[in-house]
Amino acid sequence: MPCCCTRGGSSTASSLAILSGIAPNGGLYVPSSLPKLSYADQVSLADLPYADRAARILSGLLDDFTADEVNTAVQSAYLHFDNPAVAPVVQIRDNTFVLELFHGPTLAFKDMALQLLPRLMALSACKNKESRDISVLVATSGDTGKAALEGFKDVPGTSCTVFYPLGGVSDIQELQMTTTGGANTHVIGLRGNFDDAQSGLKRLFVNPGFISRMSASGKVISSANSINLGRLLPQIAYYFSACADLQKRGGITWQNGINVIVPTGNFGNILAAWYARLMGAPIKKLICASNRNSVLADFIKTGCYNSNRTFYTTISPSMDILVSSNLERLLFDLSGRDGQCVGKWMEDLASTGRFDIGPDRLRVMNEVFVGDYADDSATRKAIDRVWREDRYLFDPHTAVAEEVLRQYRSDTSDQTPALIIATASPYKFSADVLQAAGFEGGNAFESAERLSEATGIPVPLSIRALRHLPVRHSAVCDVSGMEAAILKALE
Ligand SMILES: *Cc1c(COP(=O)(O)O)cnc(C)c1O
Repeated sequence: MPCCCTRGGSSTASSLAILSGIAPNGGLYVPSSLPKLSYADQVSLADLPYADRAARILSGLLDDFTADEVNTAVQSAYLHFDNPAVAPVVQIRDNTFVLELFHGPTLAFKDMALQLLPRLMALSACKNKESRDISVLVATSGDTGKAALEGFKDVPGTSCTVFYPLGGVSDIQELQMTTTGGANTHVIGLRGNFDDAQSGLKRLFVNPGFISRMSASGKVISSANSINLGRLLPQIAYYFSACADLQKRGGITWQNGINVIVPTGNFGNILAAWYARLMGAPIKKLICASNRNSVLADFIKTGCYNSNRTFYTTISPSMDILVSSNLERLLFDLSGRDGQCVGKWMEDLASTGRFDIGPDRLRVMNEVFVGDYADDSATRKAIDRVWREDRYLFDPHTAVAEEVLRQYRSDTSDQTPALIIATASPYKFSADVLQAAGFEGGNAFESAERLSEATGIPVPLSIRALRHLPVRHSAVCDVSGMEAAILKALE
């Protein structure tokens, strides 16, 4: 099925949506309708390797790709994961499971989509007879940047330029990006926060002058952020994969289902879970876990989105976001797929920093969504508690989710089995994790080694290797200088 746009307009083939990243009117592409998977379809996934599961789900979602094209792309995308299951489900205690999405090359869940996106992008260019170079522009709160750089590194006909907030990411995250090889990769530190980077790029994406300057030098721009439909769709697959695994091993029954807790920033991962639910996955509640930047948790409680608030840097930097792009896709569904209504909310957000969906839509949203947050102190305690009680080590983002789940279970009588979405390896945030688990700290690399000694979990090779790689990228710019920085990088 083709795609439509959250702010109205005509429908578009998936390949063009992936190639463009964002719609010309500033809205986001969404599937026009979602296929339903029967119980039998879903159960049968459990007997397949991960790539085959993903191929099945994705061929139903990408309208102008053949099943063969999808299958070939998916098979090669999941070759470089350090766990044969790709996205394994681990039980940490009674009724509580963890979906580990950090086994890809950059140790965060972004790899689940960004190992595949370059392949879908190349196919999309071909289908749309696009012969210009594709300049992928990325704003990152820490993990998307490295995952996009690795995905697009040395892919012919593409380049990848990443903006990250200076001082707003972990030491390891920064080194992962600035040491990236490849002739077509560019990394720029922005004097600003993630929201500045994301809104700066969104403005450039719809700026005719910039688009034509790029075109004049033989380039067309696209996005590898989760505003791109090609980022979102691959994430739906792992929810079906996890439910099939759980059902097979008896962790859940199809009738009672499971609650899913997602550490959330830009609302991409949890939105994929919403789509999986609409497609028939046995998901009950979707619990949105924020850090101290609790704009989403507050929205889910009140129906009012208010970004006029202090921006905090936290120990879960990939969730330090106040303007959450993918929420627009949920709003589209809540509005009854009314592009005008969504457009109005987005105008309110742009002009006043807030919008309100009203009590009726709030009620509908709360039939599925629950929102809460955990600050750094509660997050550190959660890392410590789970390590002591369950001998399982969470990264700070996933620990936010665990803490929100603990609160939810103690506040409600809902004891439905729960699936915590683990979005990053603890080794990406060694220093904070080490400290939280009560060990003596050190710099990022010393911490990683100490963490390994204390837990017996080996340090991932890519982290060890970082120490000896030269820094190749050191460009810095102001928010007002993003366009100039891109043009200079791509010269
Ligand atoms: C990106 C990221 C998140 C937030 O995911 P969204 O899809 O933006 O909500 C959470 N945790 C980690 C480790 C991330 O990299």
